[in-house]
Amino acid sequence: MAKVVILSGAGVSAESGISTFRDSGGLWEEYDVSLICQADSLDKNEDLTLDFYDKRRAELEDKQPNYAHKLLSELKKKYPQDIAIITQNVDNLFEKSGLDSNTEVLHLHGFLTQVRCRNYSCAQTFEIGYQKIESFNEGLCPTCQSKLRPDIIFFGEAAPMYERLSQEFSDCEFFVVIGTSGAVIGVNAMAQFTPNSILNNLEPSESIEASLFNKVLYEKASEAIAEIVEDIETYLGE
Ligand code: NAD
Repeated sequence: MAKVVILSGAGVSAESGISTFRDSGGLWEEYDVSLICQADSLDKNEDLTLDFYDKRRAELEDKQPNYAHKLLSELKKKYPQDIAIITQNVDNLFEKSGLDSNTEVLHLHGFLTQVRCRNYSCAQTFEIGYQKIESFNEGLCPTCQSKLRPDIIFFGEAAPMYERLSQEFSDCEFFVVIGTSGAVIGVNAMAQFTPNSILNNLEPSESIEASLFNKVLYEKASEAIAEIVEDIETYLGE
């Protein structure tokens, strides 16, 4: 397991033009997220839910990674065993900056360009790029013909990748948080039990106890990232 765990959230992609959930002007304000991101959203509001993720997927096509994605991806390539890149984001901007989605980035909450079979005993996933779900095999699983869904973890659903997250923490010596409010995944305990830690957000969050971190950078990720990478490289070089 990696010595350095870097956990990112919507904030790392904000400068690439992808809305965060909770910042002002974010997705919470534009959409009633309770209708489209809950465990029962596909049963109760199927068209609205599929349409929401179709739009998010289409928007992704022309989005580009920013300086933070690029420096983090270079760091991962330089120290493949020592660095774990873990993200709550469902976008593909780490992948667009050169990382492999299966082996180099851990997506905790799913992946927007993938769809999954709704039949639990099949549950196969398929890469569909930026197209609408209904444009891919008429929205049906090519293997068992059951309906497909976005490969996204909705609120209230099990998140199988959380187990990998806790495994990564077993050897973590340096914990970095970039662009997450900590409302979905709590980061306080992880900071408390890790000897070195850095927090980078735009501003304080009520879910994060900043005093538990060794360094706090309230600035844009693209402005903080060079210092963060330098600190990590200094640590790994010691
Ligand atoms: P959040 O919206 O709750 O919090 C965003 C955090 O990012 C805030 O703390 C804010 O201060 C910080 N931030 C905003 N702009 C920043 C910048 N330029 N540099 C550094 N920090 C910045 O996001 P969350 O904690 O990731 O939780 C939201 C959930 O929504 C996640 O589960 C995620 O899956 C999902 N989501 C994903 C995307 C995406 O894939 N890009 C976008 C929106 C929401």
